[in-house]
Amino acid sequence: MKERMDERMKNKKEELKREVVLTAKRALKEGMVAGTSGNISVFLEDLNAMAITPSGYDYTIMEENDVVVISLDGTVLEGHLKPSSEWKLHAEIYKNLPHVKSVVHTHSPYATSFAVLHKEIPVILIEMVPFLKGSIEVSPYAKQGSSDVGSNAVPILGRKNACLMANHGVVAVGDTLGQAYINSIYVEDAAKIYHMALTVGTPVVLTEDLW
Ligand code: 13P
Ligand code: ZN
Repeated sequence: MKERMDERMKNKKEELKREVVLTAKRALKEGMVAGTSGNISVFLEDLNAMAITPSGYDYTIMEENDVVVISLDGTVLEGHLKPSSEWKLHAEIYKNLPHVKSVVHTHSPYATSFAVLHKEIPVILIEMVPFLKGSIEVSPYAKQGSSDVGSNAVPILGRKNACLMANHGVVAVGDTLGQAYINSIYVEDAAKIYHMALTVGTPVVLTEDLW
């Protein structure tokens, strides 16, 4: 009985690691990250740990066993590569927001340009309400790899499914990896459309009474 449970847990973990790799490759293909930027994780309930992309690793050659399993204090439980340098961002989110089961961090270009400007993206498209829970706010700047990157984003992610991180990029969350990734896509889509609209006029913001 116990062996069967262990086997099931192991299979689930391997399935999630596979999903991390497929999503990372998809993110590269869809222009959501450049080079080796960005990182992706899923929370592993049974281990109180996460499966996260390795640091600075070429997405095109990434395989399932390159994904690193670490506890929320950064202890490596499984894997032969260094975990993402942003593991503290992911850990802060899982520690503080138990409803979150996956974190996707991208440097998608339109959204990141607003992050560089420290400019919030207001609700200009109705999809932003169900997917992102409203406007896309900007969390204060923190040095790469510090836990402040995470603790600065957590207050926003307690209310929203994504935010911009000043002079850095995007962090999106979800109750599944698929959902977190879709949310990161909606951030880039809104940023792109907002940018295009700003170049030709003054975008009309959808106020809360219209949601
Ligand atoms: P890693 O390759 O270490 O995950 O770093 C990428 C990144 O986006 C840093 O903010
Ligand atoms: Zn980054």
